[in-house]
Amino acid sequence: MLWLAVATPDIPDAVQLLQQMEHDELSRVDPDGTAARAAQHVIDLDAESASCPACGGAIPRGQLRCPECGLRLG
Ligand SMILES: [Zn+2]
Repeated sequence: MLWLAVATPDIPDAVQLLQQMEHDELSRVDPDGTAARAAQHVIDLDAESASCPACGGAIPRGQLRCPECGLRLG
């Protein structure tokens, strides 16, 4: 489980870092890239809903935690 807790203005940087980390990690453990593609989702808390970068679950607008896995977004 990878936890991500950042201030909203830092989310793009955090997502980029997360993707870089996951690219490095998943190239070894996820050779077919399934999880790597899931990590490409960008968190947009102003959108109607967002996809959790950890589990891919839908996160309703205004939620600061993923209802599926509990990942903190703000
Ligand atoms: Zn989640």
